[in-house]
Amino acid sequence: MTIPLPATKIVCTIGPSSSSSGVIASLIEAGMSVARLNFSHGSHEDHAKVVTRVRHEAHRQNRFVAIMQDLQGPKIRLGLFPSGKVLIETGASFTLTTENVSCNASIASVSHKGLPGDVRAGDEIRINDGLVRLRVHSVSGRRVDCKVTEGGEIGDRKGVNLPGRNVSMPSLTRKDAADLVLGLALDVDYVALSFVRTAADVAGLKKKIRAAGKDIPVIAKLEKAQAVENLASILSVVDGVLVARGDLGVETELTDLPMLQKRILREASRAGVVAITATQMLESMTHNPMPTRAEVSDVANAVLDGTDAVMLSGETASGEYPVEAVVTMRKVAFSAEAQREAFPYDLTESLGIPGVVAEAACRAAVKASASRIVAFTRSGLTARMVSKFRPATPVVAFTAFESSACRMALFNGVEPFVLPETETMRADRVVELAVKFLREKNMAGRGDRLVFVYGSVGGHCDKMRVVQI
Ligand code: ATP
Ligand code: MG
Ligand code: MG
Repeated sequence: MTIPLPATKIVCTIGPSSSSSGVIASLIEAGMSVARLNFSHGSHEDHAKVVTRVRHEAHRQNRFVAIMQDLQGPKIRLGLFPSGKVLIETGASFTLTTENVSCNASIASVSHKGLPGDVRAGDEIRINDGLVRLRVHSVSGRRVDCKVTEGGEIGDRKGVNLPGRNVSMPSLTRKDAADLVLGLALDVDYVALSFVRTAADVAGLKKKIRAAGKDIPVIAKLEKAQAVENLASILSVVDGVLVARGDLGVETELTDLPMLQKRILREASRAGVVAITATQMLESMTHNPMPTRAEVSDVANAVLDGTDAVMLSGETASGEYPVEAVVTMRKVAFSAEAQREAFPYDLTESLGIPGVVAEAACRAAVKASASRIVAFTRSGLTARMVSKFRPATPVVAFTAFESSACRMALFNGVEPFVLPETETMRADRVVELAVKFLREKNMAGRGDRLVFVYGSVGGHCDKMRVVQI
């Protein structure tokens, strides 16, 4: 049995709570369309197993699920504490060092060798998602001596942020390069890069992917003030962006986050780029079967802000109620989408010829009372363009390629299907074939109207056709 899914797509981070075949199957049933593998955690063997399981379960359920590899990027982390974690007190002295030391309540090693060169006396350093704050007192050799301005708990491999400072680490670290080799071998559908600062960071990753003979869409994780400053140029080179509210809330002013999210989502739509909203969306469900009022409001508001997808992190990776969290997201998304007309999403930008045709198709579908918009697409671009105009009409997308179908699983309102024989067919034949397919699936019947969008073979989308069955 397949449950109807909302237009908004659900991304789940897979971790210890969700990496078994059984839980993966339940997540897909509940509405997961994208599985995120966070390469900040877990071994290569674990991630490879998860990829196999997701592909297998998706196939079994006749669904397309995208695999997103999330590269750690230039993230600074603390070392290991013999006790796992310690409490540091406000007002105490605390040292960060690039030497390998056993961490305790007065000193901790950091993963970034360039740290002493990157900070100045007076700088603020934030640890553990900004919960703990230090003020740099002095830098000497490999040590950075600080005063604790906001005490709290720190522990194994917790993140360290230097808000406002440029971290002297390459955007693609040696670990990222090694992780990417695995991701490419596993044929992941998306590669996400953390801590993107400039469009050049994205270009560097794309170059590496191309050098390996692959063409995989890249998602920029926006979690630095610098990325927000460079938003327009980053949007011009990426396939998608992820509003990574965890680190973004540490790197910028936490209280600015809601408006930053709205701005990023609006700009992403105007650029025809897919956007994912992430972090703490249903945080309390990590340990509770029910979300808070604030959390369900947050998910609904992200939908109204125009996000293509909503993401679960710890809730599904290490939480106690991974499947319940997906069910909750699905229900909230449905409810918000039902009211979308009352809270209009208005995209008036013209996104090139494919965008012009896509927009016309969305309007035509309404005027013709069409039951579906049908996109034929090789790469998925045509479907992405239609999706970005958020048609009230459901969209089905046909492609000859399994990889494109998986990628389209991320697109809002798009249900992908593979028809291998369409690759070399003339458009009128493809229309016939698609109608037959939809009728067989009971997705269309006699008298129904369908709006088709497609391009000439090898070209971008430039045609629209309205058909009555
Ligand atoms: P990011 O900044 O990329 O979001 P994160 O450390 O916040 O990194 P999330 O992916 O948001 O990690 O996941 C939340 C928590 O879930 C992590 O802190 C970690 O404890 C756990 N987790 C996620 N993926 C894994 C994994 N593959 N193995 C073990 N634990 C994981
Ligand atoms: Mg996170
Ligand atoms: Mg992050």
